Amino acid sequence: MYSSISSSSSRGGYGGDGGDMDMDMNMNMNMNMGMMNMKPAWLERLMVETFFGDCGVHKNQRKNEKNIFCLHCCLSICPHCLPSHTSHPLLQVL
Ligand SMILES: [Zn+2]
Ligand SMILES: [Zn+2]
Repeated sequence: MYSSISSSSSRGGYGGDGGDMDMDMNMNMNMNMGMMNMKPAWLERLMVETFFGDCGVHKNQRKNEKNIFCLHCCLSICPHCLPSHTSHPLLQVL
């Protein structure tokens, strides 16, 4: 039998004197910045929205609690409002 697994082919030319070890420190710092202080607008609106109130548009219908939030319109909506928001990103509040 003759099986040769050539795993150590890429290690050819390099010698043994490494010296680039402390590069990693700076990398990590930059990664964590950025995302932290960004609060999307819809999220702020979501905080002040009152959920589970009656939908003003569908007062006379059953099950008109506004338990869905439309991220596109920044609005809380009831199930009856759904058809006008089907193409919008929605957030179901349970
Ligand atoms: Zn919408
Ligand atoms: Zn409605």
